[in-house]
Amino acid sequence: MKTDQDRQIPEQIRQSGPGHLLIAWRDGVESVFPVRELRLACACAHCVDEWTGEYKLDAGSVPEDVRPTRIKAVGRYAIQIDWTDGHGTGIYSFDRLRELADRAEAS
Ligand SMILES: [Zn+2]
Repeated sequence: MKTDQDRQIPEQIRQSGPGHLLIAWRDGVESVFPVRELRLACACAHCVDEWTGEYKLDAGSVPEDVRPTRIKAVGRYAIQIDWTDGHGTGIYSFDRLRELADRAEAS
């Protein structure tokens, strides 16, 4: 039986094509993320003000061809991505990634 939790557990994370990252979720859904959108969705303290929640990242400063250089597991709940623009402090929790994926699906 599929549980809600399965929605937030990736079976597989891999690069799919030059500018896309694919996550295959345990519930059978595959989400393809344009990597630059993930870079722009970074919610670390450099990109989003911790206190006000205000978005500080200037999208224009992120190259169109930004790519992940390294993707590292953080515990069992998140990944950390190093980027070609030198940024590497962003942590992407699986539930947030799934939320981004579901939102992209709906639009
Ligand atoms: Zn960031």
